[in-house]
Amino acid sequence: MKTLNDIDFNGKKALIRVDFNVPLNENFEVTDNTRIKAAKPTIIKILEDGGSCILMSHLGRPKGRQDEFSLRHIVDSVEDVFGVEVIYVSDCIGTEAEEAAQSLEQGQILILENLRFHPEEKQGDESFAQKLALLGDVYVNDAFGTAHRAHASTATIARFFSGRKCFGYLLAKEIESIKTVMESGEKPVTAILGGAKVSSKITIINNILDKIDHLIIGGGMAYTFVKALGGKIGDSIVEDDKQELALEILKQAKEKQVQVHLPKDIVASDAFSNDANIQVCSVKNIPDNWMGLDAGPETIAYFNEIISLSKTILWNGPVGVFEMETFSKGTIALGEAIAKATKKGSFSLVGGGDSVAAVKQFGFEKKVSYVSTGGGAMLESLEGKTLPGIAAMLE
Ligand code: AMP
Repeated sequence: MKTLNDIDFNGKKALIRVDFNVPLNENFEVTDNTRIKAAKPTIIKILEDGGSCILMSHLGRPKGRQDEFSLRHIVDSVEDVFGVEVIYVSDCIGTEAEEAAQSLEQGQILILENLRFHPEEKQGDESFAQKLALLGDVYVNDAFGTAHRAHASTATIARFFSGRKCFGYLLAKEIESIKTVMESGEKPVTAILGGAKVSSKITIINNILDKIDHLIIGGGMAYTFVKALGGKIGDSIVEDDKQELALEILKQAKEKQVQVHLPKDIVASDAFSNDANIQVCSVKNIPDNWMGLDAGPETIAYFNEIISLSKTILWNGPVGVFEMETFSKGTIALGEAIAKATKKGSFSLVGGGDSVAAVKQFGFEKKVSYVSTGGGAMLESLEGKTLPGIAAMLE
């Protein structure tokens, strides 16, 4: 399949699926333009080649045509990022869109109205996809955030661009990063899984056990393992019905020679509150009515040691309730350890869920190798699923 670099866009109209599903405030202003900036390398390359860009995206979850979800609201923000005037059309298909696309000149950007104003988008409808396909000469998919959806603009449309389609730089980078961790990463490979529940991570664990050397289990999900191993976990979060599963995971890990690392000490609290009383205690001996909400100093040092030896690192899920300052230290220390390993040459991928929020909140974004832009898409990739948006391009 062609890459973006293989195509000379001079005089061509690129129809680009971007993920501009950005947050808006009550005045409909963009409050975080990260996703717009993420598409910049692709769009700049096409414009510099002498091409033009027709951008299509969804915004929110509209039920039919609802003005609050109009992509008109983000036009100013897109103009700020690209420094050129952006043309907007009030529908993504039909005469107005076709005429605007037709008269688009080299170096210009056109943004189509929210794809999800048409229910056919989410249905992956073929005739809707065909109408979209009329607008461009080349199809570029640069929306990793929706690559796990078999929608018209993310998957179905690809079949109308045989030999004239490619991934954008952002999507290509996501695919490459996942591949590095799952297939070609230098050993030892370490996965750090945290977050609240074992149940939401079980498919990931099953998929990665064959690919990793170390598995660090932290955060809320660790307590199900500790309890299953006979520990006393007080009021800590637990999934009692997953205890057997936890033991099965440990057994499988042993068979596959994966070393599993659980917390040693934790910060326990007498309430789920930032101002509660706290004490550091063994993860196996948490007093009644107390709950473990963060990694303790011994655990932090232990996890740091494993991370410092790792050449490839995957991080998914915080190791404490990082949203509350009192319980954010473990997650911050983990971010610091990964940043340090990255500086020494290790590859680190942070993706899927709240670890991305933590990395951004604590300023580690530029200190790790790659932070994924797609929550659900990253989780499904780590679970070993083939993403429809990627499969459609390879057909
Ligand atoms: P996930 O979306 O699965 O990555 O879960 C993230 C959530 O797990 C965050 O909101 C954390 O506050 C929460 N979490 C992490 N550690 C704990 C813990 N020890 N007890 C309760 N919740 C936790």
